[in-house]
Amino acid sequence: MRWRHWESTEFRPNSPRLRVYKPARPGCADRLMSEETRPSLYGYTCSELEALVVEWGSKGVHAAKIWRHLYLEGRSDWETIHELPQQLAQRLHTEMSAGELPITRETHSSDGFTRKYLLGLKDGHQIETVLMRYSGRVTACISSQVGCAMGCVFCATGQMGYTRHLTAAEIVAQALHVDRTLRETTQENPALAESDHESPHHRHERLRNIVLMGMGEPLHNYDAVIKATEILRDPGGLALGAKKITLSTVGVIPGIIRLADERQPIHLAVSLHAADQAKRASIVPVAKKWTLDELMQACRYYVEKMDRRIFFEWTLIEGENDRAEDAHAVGRLLKTVPCQVNLIPLNPTSGYEGVPSDLTSAKRFQSILAEYGLPSTVRQRRGIDIAAGCGQLAIAEE
Ligand code: SAH
Ligand code: SF4
Repeated sequence: MRWRHWESTEFRPNSPRLRVYKPARPGCADRLMSEETRPSLYGYTCSELEALVVEWGSKGVHAAKIWRHLYLEGRSDWETIHELPQQLAQRLHTEMSAGELPITRETHSSDGFTRKYLLGLKDGHQIETVLMRYSGRVTACISSQVGCAMGCVFCATGQMGYTRHLTAAEIVAQALHVDRTLRETTQENPALAESDHESPHHRHERLRNIVLMGMGEPLHNYDAVIKATEILRDPGGLALGAKKITLSTVGVIPGIIRLADERQPIHLAVSLHAADQAKRASIVPVAKKWTLDELMQACRYYVEKMDRRIFFEWTLIEGENDRAEDAHAVGRLLKTVPCQVNLIPLNPTSGYEGVPSDLTSAKRFQSILAEYGLPSTVRQRRGIDIAAGCGQLAIAEE
């Protein structure tokens, strides 16, 4: 209740809604079973797809058509797409899967701004993906793993433990799922649907921003995550801007160095939460392996090599890391690093008893950071009533 002032004023009354999807009909089981072993098209870059098409005896130029249908038209009914040679369409139909993830459950926040999707994976595990609306933009919060091995004490994903990495295809599929949802929303919005703009990018509201802040630690699953960002950025497909993709890490140092060495153009956010080693290790266990000093060295290396600022995230927990002395410690630690600090009021999770800081403490924290020349924001609270806020994503694994 104490966070009410910080919520958006664009309140749209709408009670929380829950849509439960029925499992596939028994008659579909055989088809679904055989699909399990088929590679997902979402896991291919456009050039890999071209190589596959050529290997199958067709002209490479068809890869761009497949790509367009998949990412811009949202179609995978290959046999009805006449611009593809029949034999190619047939092989796509029988040997590949589009890679869409079935929705098991969909929940909408009461203010109408957030939707959370529980998506099923082929091996029976499930992940959560969140669609967040801010004025003028839509952001998808994407998962990179089933669970997480890092064990941060205040995070529901950490509390559930690690199950497995997601594939690039499973990461791309989440973004495509959100984009498809926006397509459906457009159908309810005649002004957009009637637009006769030539580019399909403008015919419906499109996904423009992605944060890799869902379940999991993206730099623990580096190869799949980076491949997925490359597929999502492809100008012939979803064409997301590199600067519209933000990867958030708990501080996996080899991954930060690799991002810099490979000059990956996406944005980087580092979850800090404490400005001294002992405190940080007590709430972020992986800090025992990658210490604060080493993390700061890696961040400086990244900033210099990339010539760009870094975002630091700080979950505000009452009495734990929100006092004036904590803010001064952050100021001293970061004052020479080009950066912005994003303060995230703690969201409730069942395995942690901490309490979010109140508005006064958060404002005090911000004004102390400002004394050190550090810009900061307080993250808008979204989707808390449906457990879709930062650190609240978790699935009860059997
Ligand atoms: N593993 C990555 C990204 C996923 S977590 C990371 O840790 O950065 C996304 C963000 O949510 C991180 O900044 C994380 O510290 C924060 N977070 C985790 N649990 C939270 C909670 N209960 N309340 C608020 N923020 C939380
Ligand atoms: Fe993993 Fe990030 Fe949660 Fe920590 S905060 S347990 S790194 S998902």
